[in-house]
Amino acid sequence: MTPATVRRWVRTYQNALKLHEWQVALECVPLAQLGTDETLGRIYPHYATMTATLEVATARPDAAVKATLLHEMLHLATADVCRVVRELDDQLPPGQWALLKAVFDTAEERLVVRLTRAFGEKG
Ligand SMILES: [Zn+2]
Repeated sequence: MTPATVRRWVRTYQNALKLHEWQVALECVPLAQLGTDETLGRIYPHYATMTATLEVATARPDAAVKATLLHEMLHLATADVCRVVRELDDQLPPGQWALLKAVFDTAEERLVVRLTRAFGEKG
């Protein structure tokens, strides 16, 4: 999958998810750069500037890359909700914060996986 094709898919998902206010910078990276776990992509939203950097491993089958792009764009769609939860970091005692973060992160990931599958992508 060429970088131009990857950019086109990011725009397609950005339009489908009505995330027009975000500027998404795309970085096609080697899989090894994303770590040793199951990570195939990452997105880093910057709320104040409404910009995000999306890293994706593209040396994989097209369908897998598309699923990763949708998955990461869905994380961007949940960014506002995630930010609200992150604001509690300074408000809760560390033990409560750690529990909330773990439960929330798992629930958010499950939602993103569910929505990726609902779009017909295997993510
Ligand atoms: Zn995820």
